[in-house]
Amino acid sequence: MKKVELIDVSKSYDKKTEVITNINVTIEPGEFFVLVGPSGCGKSTMLRMIAGLEDITAGVLKIGDEEVNNLPPSKRNISMVFQNYALYPHLSVEENIVFGLHVKKIPKAERKARCEETAKMLGLSDYLKRKPRELSGGQRQRVALARAIVNQAPICLMDEPLSNLDAKLRAHMRSEIRQIQRKLGITMIYVTHDQVEAMTMGDRIMILHDGKIQQIGKPIDIYNNP
Ligand code: ADP
Ligand code: ADP
Repeated sequence: MKKVELIDVSKSYDKKTEVITNINVTIEPGEFFVLVGPSGCGKSTMLRMIAGLEDITAGVLKIGDEEVNNLPPSKRNISMVFQNYALYPHLSVEENIVFGLHVKKIPKAERKARCEETAKMLGLSDYLKRKPRELSGGQRQRVALARAIVNQAPICLMDEPLSNLDAKLRAHMRSEIRQIQRKLGITMIYVTHDQVEAMTMGDRIMILHDGKIQQIGKPIDIYNNP
């Protein structure tokens, strides 16, 4: 569990137009924090800055108590799940799950043990030898989740991870993600444009509008003061 702190953070891609303006927020350790807002309001940019995939134009970003403005993504100990899953088609489910552990030179026995534990948690134990194309949409989504949590990073970022699923599966995966996040005590920053997802999943919700905080609070408070 680690906190993520943004202090007066702004971002412009072209030095003229700001797409993120003066964001101040502390995401608490173990919190499920949802970022919501219309397309183009800056949600992905915020996630990518926290992950280190984009530079910050002004302000300070802290992970735990450490300022990380100049720290590359690989040193931030953050895992990320993307909208399109980004699985490697030529690798099996098992190879997809442990790919990052391989890169980090985790020994084989530990890779195997962690993979099996994670696969069990997500109901993937019987599918480890399959290729992504041999899986249903929901199973692919689970592989993407497994690949993120197998790292045991204290912070996880998710960018609209359920938008490719049908409504029923989406509802199921919402509660599954919440359960895993609670069980592992991960600090979660979750991007969606779906209000129901935001309201049902978030400990706190931040509504972004044109790169600024329009509203921030618990779902119940936002529901009562729309
Ligand atoms: P959201 O995730 O809420 O849809 P984004 O963070 O993707 O919003 O985009 C915020 C704004 O930044 C948009 O106006 C978008 O056009 C712009 N933008 C995003 N990425 C880039 C980029 N790489 N270069 C220039 N502008 C960008
Ligand atoms: P959905 O339509 O719900 O996404 P699918 O029809 O794609 O589900 O898959 C249903 C079941 O069949 C799943 O359990 C999936 O693992 C299995 N399956 C799908 N495609 C293949 C395949 N090419 N080879 C083996 N099993 C498959």
